[in-house]
Amino acid sequence: HIYLDNAATTPMAPEVIKTMTDQMQNDFGNASSTHFFGRTAHTVLDNARQQIATALHVKPATIVFTGGATESNNTAIMQTAAARSGEGKHIITTAIEHLSVLNPMRALEKQGFQVTYLPVDENGEISLADFDAALDDETILVSIMYGNNEVGSVMPIQEIGERLRDHQAYFHVDATQAFGLIDINPEALGIDMLSASAHKLNGPKGVGLLYRDEDVHFEPFLRGGEQETKRRAGTENIPGIAGFGTAVARIDIAAKQALQERYAGFAKRITGALDDAGVTYHINGNLEHERLQHVLNIDLPGVSTYALQTNLDLAGFAISGGSACTAGSLEPSHVLTAMYGADSPRLAESIRISFGSYTTQDQVDAFAAALIKIAKRLLARAVNA
Ligand code: PMP
Repeated sequence: HIYLDNAATTPMAPEVIKTMTDQMQNDFGNASSTHFFGRTAHTVLDNARQQIATALHVKPATIVFTGGATESNNTAIMQTAAARSGEGKHIITTAIEHLSVLNPMRALEKQGFQVTYLPVDENGEISLADFDAALDDETILVSIMYGNNEVGSVMPIQEIGERLRDHQAYFHVDATQAFGLIDINPEALGIDMLSASAHKLNGPKGVGLLYRDEDVHFEPFLRGGEQETKRRAGTENIPGIAGFGTAVARIDIAAKQALQERYAGFAKRITGALDDAGVTYHINGNLEHERLQHVLNIDLPGVSTYALQTNLDLAGFAISGGSACTAGSLEPSHVLTAMYGADSPRLAESIRISFGSYTTQDQVDAFAAALIKIAKRLLARAVNA
């Protein structure tokens, strides 16, 4: 079986598994205990925080470990809205955020907040003119993803950060798909809060981070003990956090650029093979723009997502029809809907292929060959039916 669904999750790196098993076997202490076992666990926690802070170019004290990007997004959005509701009731986000941003926004709307969902064009990109038109004195929070998990489009984070420097609104960025692939410096970009998740970069599931600028204040989402300097209660997941540290440390900045180029090359091999075979397709997004190159979303006119995905699965290739989080539902992708409209045939005939650090060119070529064979078979069947 060949795995090409790395935007959903990634296999754990052997180094990460080693770090985690070492923790589980030897250092089981509670990081809050003052005895030797606790102190050892605390050292592990400090080391991981340092590794991740180094990768993000921030101070270790600004990193809060969470149970994943879903918790980080919920915390950043719900807690700052609550803390700042006296200063304004307006929030800006995009129509193509992950559901762990969109559903908190919907909950806030029920509480009386006004949310602007910036539209996207056919490339899955927002416009700064729309952003400027939405921003006003009532805006207290702007939450915009770094790059999209279904189509790979990248948002103008730097430009928005510049616009918010002299504005009261906090700037939160869901960098879950970008962290590990793009070098991000929150301070230089004017980002106040940032979310990421370990399992998207060959780390374990159920561990994430919330970066928080020292000037950003809100009550903890999880109340209880004084862990994470009172910002996130609950006994720390030391093996998971240590694994997250190892996962982040194994990708250096130079490697990120190389990964982006490698994935862009993989995408070109697939589109090149489709061109050569004469199979009609559209890219959902724009491969010529700055983007997260590990995500490739393709529309094959006349071929249903469901048929394509099941046939590829039978042939041994794991890809996704939309995002994993919504794949189980019959709802069409909200991202493709925002890009092409609810009536677009692309909603029912697109697949997402996503590469990871263990994807090889041989796997990509084998996939392209299988895709062409299956697409041709399904198209012939459609003509004969
Ligand atoms: N944001 C984005 C952009 C994502 O792709 C994901 C994972 N699909 C999440 C948030 C949620 O991450 P987690 O499942 O680790 O909580």
